[in-house]
Amino acid sequence: MGNEVGTAERRKRKVQFSDNAIVTLEVTDQFAARCRFGTVEEANSAAARFLGVTKLEGLLGRSLLDFIADDYRPVIQELLDLHVVELDPIPLMIHTPDGKSREAEIKIHPARELGDGSSIVTLRDLAAQTRAAMQARRMDALFRSLVDNAMHMICRCHGERVVYINSAGRALIGLPPDEGEASWPIWTFFDEPYRSLFHEDLSALLDETGIVPVRFRRIDGSAIDVQVRITRLPDEDNDIEFMLEARDITGQNKAVSALRAMNDTLERRVVERTSELNIQKGFLERLLTAMPNPVWWKGLDGRYLGFNNAFATLLNADPDTWIGRSVEDVAPGDHVALSKTRDEQALNGPPIAYEMELQAKDGKRQFLVNKTAWLNERKQPAGLIGVMIDISRQKDLENELRRLATTDALTGTFNRRHFMEQAAEMVAVARRHHRAASVMMLDIDHFKRINDTFGHPVGDLAIKALANTCMGALRGSDILGRLGGEEFAICLPETDLTGCRILAERMREAVAAICVEADGHQVRFTASIGIAGLEEPDHSVDIVLARADQALYRAKNGGRNRVVADRDA
Ligand code: GH3
Ligand code: MG
Ligand code: MG
Repeated sequence: MGNEVGTAERRKRKVQFSDNAIVTLEVTDQFAARCRFGTVEEANSAAARFLGVTKLEGLLGRSLLDFIADDYRPVIQELLDLHVVELDPIPLMIHTPDGKSREAEIKIHPARELGDGSSIVTLRDLAAQTRAAMQARRMDALFRSLVDNAMHMICRCHGERVVYINSAGRALIGLPPDEGEASWPIWTFFDEPYRSLFHEDLSALLDETGIVPVRFRRIDGSAIDVQVRITRLPDEDNDIEFMLEARDITGQNKAVSALRAMNDTLERRVVERTSELNIQKGFLERLLTAMPNPVWWKGLDGRYLGFNNAFATLLNADPDTWIGRSVEDVAPGDHVALSKTRDEQALNGPPIAYEMELQAKDGKRQFLVNKTAWLNERKQPAGLIGVMIDISRQKDLENELRRLATTDALTGTFNRRHFMEQAAEMVAVARRHHRAASVMMLDIDHFKRINDTFGHPVGDLAIKALANTCMGALRGSDILGRLGGEEFAICLPETDLTGCRILAERMREAVAAICVEADGHQVRFTASIGIAGLEEPDHSVDIVLARADQALYRAKNGGRNRVVADRDA
């Protein structure tokens, strides 16, 4: 079209060539030559290059027809001779001297002003043009294929009409593959309210830069969430050209809302759990406060981290001064070593329990202390928990029970069973260390008479008086027991038979001096005593006691109120 216009213009304008036409045509890289009846008289260097001759001289003086394929020669001859004028380019085949053929377009401009039969001939290589066209077609096909096979929707719109839509776009909107594109106004792709927006104010949307989330309505009526981007394209006429890209984000949105829902649930769980924990924490605090037992907890460094009210009350412990301190900072010195040793044990092993005495505000108290390591999340000891149980009352009861179990209720001396145990142990020690030991058996003389004369209670008083007298005469290490009725046994460590006899005599005299007041009467009585010393073959206390018992028997028979040793003749 452009060519036609150009040729018509030239015809109209009647181009005049001047002598230096070829010199001027050096500026073009197209073949240009001045011919006279077809013989080349002048040519530009592009002409030499076109024909593949190294020097222009190889061309000058030759007929241009030499280079033109046979079929074209007659026509071209006519034109070169200027018998016919054809200003439109004529395609022909050129044979170059190196034996190649090239497609070209020839234009023969009559130049009679330069001499009879003169013409300016130009040749345009069509091969280059063909190559460029093919290249363009290839690029076009390549881009088309890229766009066609893109993952997301790509539409080209002219005005509001879709003039191209790729296959991803067709699938996205649900267009059948064979449906024509031009029938679709682009706004029909959009769901309300985007549809109205798009319909009413396209230019505002075109000014939108970046990616916009919108909702599409597919052909089947279903909605999909998409992200779109609109890019203006250079427009050839006044109608707006633009490209619309769209990406389906329904799945993504679903994932996001699922994630959000999950987060909400998690958050709710955290809130619930936190409140549960707070309730638990509050409960634990109240529990600790309400607990009558003193409780404390320490870190690995042995410093108090906290304690409950019972502990604070017991030890008059002020949290401000105690927390952060170790036992040596707050407890009396004699207490520190034991406490630290026990802490060490509990930290490095199973829980421990031990008894200890504490000076509380209201006097000495006995405690059972339980120490347990508390573990961190990695199950490693992180400190100690101590629970103290006041066992003072149990201890008192225990002592009382022990006393009741070991002593005789009437006299307060050891009972038979406990005496026998203690005596056995004493004899065993003496034997082991080859030390002296001896025993006495003591029995009130004619006790029946006291009972019979003054009554049983007075008899009891007599028994008690005797026990007191004996206890007064004995050392702390001596063991006195009531074996039954008015019969007593005494075990004397570190005492041989001689020493025993002296003590027995002293005791006999002391008993004889006892006077029990009863109903205005003075009740007096005597006692007989049998003694025996521990000897090498005696392997138990029973044997020694049996010897002493025999001696007692002899004392009774010998007239009573006397001391007899088993060794005595
Ligand atoms: P002997 O000089 O031979 O020892 O004469 P005895 O009268 O003391 O004889 P025996 O030792 O056999 O008598 C013990 C009496 O002590 C018999 C019993 O009634 C009395 N008796 C035993 N236990 C008690 C007691 O706990 N209280 C009182 N009052 N009498 C007791
Ligand atoms: Mg008696
Ligand atoms: Mg007796």
